[in-house]
Amino acid sequence: MESGTTAVLGAGLTGLTLGYLMNKEGYCLEVLEKEAECGGLIRSLKKDGFTFDYCGSHVIFSKDNIAQNFILDLLGYNKLKRMRNTKVLYNNRYVKYPFENGLANLSQQENFECLYTFFQTTLKKAQNKLQKPRNLQEWCYYTFGKGISEKYLIPYNEKIWKYPPSKTSLKWVDRIPNPPVADIVKSSLGIETEGYTHQLFFYYPKVDGIQALGNSLKQKIDDKITTNFEVTRVTKENEKWIISNGVEEKFYDKIVSTIPVQKFLGALDTPKEIRKAGRDLKYASLITVMLGLNTNTINNLSWLYIPDKNVMPHRVSFPSNYSPDVVPKGKSSVLAEVTCSKCDKIWRMSESRLIEHVIDDLHSLKILDKKSICFTAVKKTEFAYVINDLDYEQNITLIKNYLNALGVDLLGRFSEFAYLNMDACVRRSLDYVENHRKSGLI
Ligand SMILES: Cc1cc2nc3c(=O)[nH]c(=O)nc-3n(C[C@H](O)[C@H](O)[C@H](O)COP(=O)(O)OP(=O)(O)OC[C@H]3O[C@@H](n4cnc5c(N)ncnc54)[C@H](O)[C@@H]3O)c2cc1C
Repeated sequence: MESGTTAVLGAGLTGLTLGYLMNKEGYCLEVLEKEAECGGLIRSLKKDGFTFDYCGSHVIFSKDNIAQNFILDLLGYNKLKRMRNTKVLYNNRYVKYPFENGLANLSQQENFECLYTFFQTTLKKAQNKLQKPRNLQEWCYYTFGKGISEKYLIPYNEKIWKYPPSKTSLKWVDRIPNPPVADIVKSSLGIETEGYTHQLFFYYPKVDGIQALGNSLKQKIDDKITTNFEVTRVTKENEKWIISNGVEEKFYDKIVSTIPVQKFLGALDTPKEIRKAGRDLKYASLITVMLGLNTNTINNLSWLYIPDKNVMPHRVSFPSNYSPDVVPKGKSSVLAEVTCSKCDKIWRMSESRLIEHVIDDLHSLKILDKKSICFTAVKKTEFAYVINDLDYEQNITLIKNYLNALGVDLLGRFSEFAYLNMDACVRRSLDYVENHRKSGLI
């Protein structure tokens, strides 16, 4: 960061963390946020005694101790530690998550199919008889065999991304747990094993939902944040960046953008091929249906994956099992997540229809009793998940090179256009400030 005033675009977790860290270093900065409220994807709805993470269930976990401690410090005493109890609802059975760690919960025949085809693929790999995977679908068969792939991994991935795994690049696969052979055998025999272990325990704010993180950061830099300022135009004149919301112009020496990269490109004059690369980046939108229930407890689950395509939500979480303080006394809550594309018919569905559809689905699956519903709300989030299609790498590299050459830095989930969780957003901000300090720019 050169001296002068820096504009940090967006006040989601990345923008707020970066703003806080830069401010601590004595930098002159302003965070510009289009919404009235800060937090972006980590905002929570608080109404009638219920608190919901309204851009989808968020829990705190990480392999990165520094980033995790940074996040936990923001919460102070406002945190609870929970052990994950997550299942996959498959053919009316609750199968332990990750699916490959719950094979004994399947019928004997299906358990056999998963184990046998896993061995077949492992053997072929050892004999060098399998072609290396080129996309997510091939990777599923290559890593887990036909049984686990066709029963769970492929249908679930198709359902969440609304994009074919055969057209999804391998960039995504490091996020899918890849267990040792011994674990699959144990899982099939019913000997307890755990997968995805760095998430086995997670933290969650006791009150205020995941927005507690954003609240804590905002409080530290409140005077540096301008809300209700949607960046719509960015130009450069005489070494100064001019940022406009269509009404007012502001002047800066440096820009760090954390807003979706397509939105940033839309505000700049860019060559045709860069605009095209931005348009070609693929992402999934998300609808959350928030339900409050008149029952004291609903179950003992953290969340539930539902690969069945005849059921609208792909994931349902139970916020009142994260913290009893996110519901009024004697009540419980359910948060259902439905992915879609901004131009499809699910996105266009009315809120009442979405609520009705989700309640009917969850009632038929006996996840809840529709007579006990006492609160409903819906939220639509345009930018939820990055999709790594096969052209992704080429498009994002073109855009990043172009913006880097202009001197614009990109940080955060939809600005870097990468599958970043909260810990990674914090890590990016810590590294950004640290690298600039090391290079003597701070
Ligand atoms: C369904 C779901 C579940 C998740 N669960 C977890 C989890 O359990 N654990 C975890 O660690 N992570 C989770 N994440 C990831 C986490 O939400 C993100 O890593 C993090 O919130 C991203 O923060 P960000 O600041 O980079 O982006 P954002 O939160 O998207 O922030 C961008 C900000 O820019 C603003 N903005 C946009 N356009 C403009 C404009 N033109 N002008 C000004 N401002 C603008 C937006 O309003 C927003 O405030 C989950 C994400 C999703 C979608």
